[in-house]
Amino acid sequence: MALSSLIRVNRQLFSGPHATAFVPAITLAAFWLGGEVALITAALSAPLMMLLAMQSHKAGKDTTTPLQDATARLTRIQTDCTGSGRKSACFVLAIDGVEHLTNRYGAASMDRILSDMPSRMMSVLRGDDQIFRIADNRFAVALSPSARCDLEMGITLSGRLQGAIEAPYKLDETTLYLNACCGFCLTSKSPEATGASLLDAAQAALAEAIAQGSGTIRAFTEAMKSRQLSRSRIADEVELALEQGQVRAWFQPQVSSDTGAITGFEALARWEHPERGMLPPSDFLPVIEQAGLLPRLAEVMLHEALHALNTWDNTTGDVPKVSINLSQAELADPNLPDRIRWSLERFDVPAERLVIEILENVVAPGISDVVTRNLSALSQMGCLIDLDDFGTGQTSITAIRRLAINRLKIDRSFITHLNEDKEQQRMVEAILTMAERLNLETIAEGVETVGEYSQASLLGCTHIQGYAVSRPLPLEKTGEWMAQYRAKLAKTPQIGRKTG
Ligand code: C2E
Ligand code: CA
Ligand code: CA
Repeated sequence: MALSSLIRVNRQLFSGPHATAFVPAITLAAFWLGGEVALITAALSAPLMMLLAMQSHKAGKDTTTPLQDATARLTRIQTDCTGSGRKSACFVLAIDGVEHLTNRYGAASMDRILSDMPSRMMSVLRGDDQIFRIADNRFAVALSPSARCDLEMGITLSGRLQGAIEAPYKLDETTLYLNACCGFCLTSKSPEATGASLLDAAQAALAEAIAQGSGTIRAFTEAMKSRQLSRSRIADEVELALEQGQVRAWFQPQVSSDTGAITGFEALARWEHPERGMLPPSDFLPVIEQAGLLPRLAEVMLHEALHALNTWDNTTGDVPKVSINLSQAELADPNLPDRIRWSLERFDVPAERLVIEILENVVAPGISDVVTRNLSALSQMGCLIDLDDFGTGQTSITAIRRLAINRLKIDRSFITHLNEDKEQQRMVEAILTMAERLNLETIAEGVETVGEYSQASLLGCTHIQGYAVSRPLPLEKTGEWMAQYRAKLAKTPQIGRKTG
């Protein structure tokens, strides 16, 4: 025991950069004791010895990953719980939009923020609970076993962990707001009594939470497991679903910040699955993309959107425009302008009433000539082009000009807390000033509160979209919503826009 401690201390002493401090002392001692020959031998062999020590130190270092560490800890917890009557749980939290935030604040800042997360989370946990960063933006929490650990406590603790992550973060002159989803599984609900099973179940709950939107908490249930399994079946079903009309457009209104009038609706894809209910795009877009079916989705969404315009024209009236989202793969289809022209003719809709939303990455340097040609053909036809998620990428002013963009859709990350946060206001003001100089319209997306709504319109953002106005609705519900909205608008005093 004493010998092994001595070896360990030796290894520690001679393996770090600090070990170089001993070299002069060792060589001097060698000279005193053994003369010149010893001096030369020591001078030559000391660095070699240290190199060997460093290698052995590295080899002895822990090489397990945080994911393996989390699984091992959870396995010990499962063993502790079995038979003892004590309980525990595993929580997994994922921070939203890390890629966007990295583009905005830089990798070094994001790394600093994410590295700080465990200590923030620890402030709401007990000393013997443990946190593992199992992926870039993902943290697993292993609770030490206790007598009471039930669903209610799981939900409360999830909320506290989210609160710790979401508390404003000061970064130089800026305040940053993060959002996190949380999935958790109680040991009593774990499909198997192993750490891996508990962690998988918490991750399955997290996947469901993410699908429901930012800030959601989900506890693992048996039904989730079967839904997870059946997710692999989605790939087989999606083509048929597109053909059978199960993939439909839901519509989210966009309103003028000046008058409050409805200026359009954005069509968002929803899969109304006969057994699993309504699935959001995050559940099936990747599968559609992998199956090469994005052009088919674009066709479905275009038809649904134009059909909706026809329906509104014949019923409620006064919906000037409809927007559809086109991804890079869809925009790279050389037949796209023709297909859109034929559809517009078929539904007898003028091109000026169709807005195409494209993401910033589509206009990044190096985009294909086909995409450029398609966008300019669509714009010449009269279609309008919105630059979606604006501010999260690196669009150049030249690209905005070259691609005849009509409107900048300011990303939700700039809109969150807009009414309370001066830095957010400065960012939005900068975007609005640029838009004004370039003669572009603007729309704030993801406007969730009345405060954000009035601030965006005060700053001069021309259009507003978000839950504060309405969530996306199926076509059948839009008529009733519009009637109620217009009745309310007629009674409400208008929020004035900034003038001058
Ligand atoms: P996006 O184009 O940025 O669409 C806005 C997303 O934000 C929608 O999510 C919408 O439901 C959600 N949202 C709207 N208002 C608020 C708000 O106030 N707060 C919050 N937190 N969220 C809000 P959704 O429908 O889940 O769509 C997600 C993404 O999927 C879309 O983001 C778009 O990129 C893609 N997508 C949807 N439909 C289509 C489609 O037909 N084709 C293609 N290529 N992509 C689509
Ligand atoms: Ca969009
Ligand atoms: Ca967007």
